Amino acid sequence: MLRCGQINFNEQDPLTMKPEEWMDYFASLKVNAVLLNGGGIMAFYPTKLPYQHRSEFLGSRDLFGETLTAARKRHMRVVARMDCNYAYQEAFQAHPEWFQYNADGSPRRHPECTWLYKTCMFGTYFTEQMPAIYREINQLYSPDGFYTNGWPGTEALEVCHCLNCQKIYNEQTGGTPPETTDVRSPVYHKYYEVYMDRIALVWKLWQDTVKEHNANSVYVGNLGGGIRTVKDVKRLSTVASWFNADNQGRAGDTPIWMCAQQGRVARSVMGNRTVTNVIGSYSNGQINWRHSSKAPAEATMWMAQAAASGMVPWYHWLGSNPEDTRWRETGRVFFDWLAANETHFRNRRSLASIGVLYPQSTISFYGSNGTHARKLKGENIDSAEYLEGMYAALLEGRFLFDFVHQENLTAEMLKPYRALLIPNAAYLRDTECEAIREYVKAGRFTPGDL
Ligand SMILES: [Zn+2]
Repeated sequence: MLRCGQINFNEQDPLTMKPEEWMDYFASLKVNAVLLNGGGIMAFYPTKLPYQHRSEFLGSRDLFGETLTAARKRHMRVVARMDCNYAYQEAFQAHPEWFQYNADGSPRRHPECTWLYKTCMFGTYFTEQMPAIYREINQLYSPDGFYTNGWPGTEALEVCHCLNCQKIYNEQTGGTPPETTDVRSPVYHKYYEVYMDRIALVWKLWQDTVKEHNANSVYVGNLGGGIRTVKDVKRLSTVASWFNADNQGRAGDTPIWMCAQQGRVARSVMGNRTVTNVIGSYSNGQINWRHSSKAPAEATMWMAQAAASGMVPWYHWLGSNPEDTRWRETGRVFFDWLAANETHFRNRRSLASIGVLYPQSTISFYGSNGTHARKLKGENIDSAEYLEGMYAALLEGRFLFDFVHQENLTAEMLKPYRALLIPNAAYLRDTECEAIREYVKAGRFTPGDL
């Protein structure tokens, strides 16, 4: 896949959406695949499964099916875009064990859409209900793949206090989950391991489930986080055949190259497997103007950064009835260029001769309260800032470099590099330190080594 697009349906879209026109637009971008909303929180097809809420405006339409047919007519593959992280009250009443709870026993709700309840990945919503939804969609439409929005993510962990969480944690460690995500606590470190194990188990289960009907089908979760990935992306890469980064744009003082940082992190664990990056065609400023086009230069730079760092741009608009359509031409111009030059985006290998250690454990654990921010002399210290500073210096010096994930520190992986630059890497395993010593001992790089 080299180009990808998405129209994200909203609940009212079944009233007005014209699938043929939308798929004409994405065909004009020469995309290989489109993402279309299937179900989970809200079904856009006539589901028969209980507790999967249908769009209130679906009526007799099958918006997912109609749009899938229109896409296939234009030779685009279809990935069903799913939501697994919230469900409606009817599900909560019937299956309270599917959901997350606070320490005081109250269920967690969506902060804006308070009628939605947050599901827990340690419960059977993830092992039974979501697989049932995948099977139903596969039976009816056999899409080319499935993608879950909002899960597993790469942000900080949040401790859930449901019975399933207590049971599974106890089975694996013999104890009770931590009260908080204080990274200085050894209990949190155990919780982190159980948490990562669960993500890997669910990802594999869903991958196996979607392949039951179609052996070529693929499941992909939602990752991202750039260089601030608290969850271990190396671990996630052991189950992922495709890495998607939900890294749609920037706000505040974020530099434009942040998008390419995401590509370098993903490449450091995925090698030549597919890495996509969701590009917001709408304005992602400090106020998210979700129905206004991003400035063309901003959107184009973000797409260019994605492609240059080895990611596939996935161009994304929200809602099928836009008043502002200026984003369309911006996408078309860039995707035209990408298609015209696509041979240069195949069979890639890095020409970089400098490796920069990606210090996953330091970013995950060098802080307090489960975030990367650390109090030092009353100031918030960001555990990724050391890496950020080195990154900026290398860019300004026009050096070519790759990230080397700390869990990939082997003689083989380090062989192409003349130097390994190490930002603050406070936490390395003994085996990783040994690999660095061996690299140093092996002596100075000479160009003939390549
Ligand atoms: Zn739970």
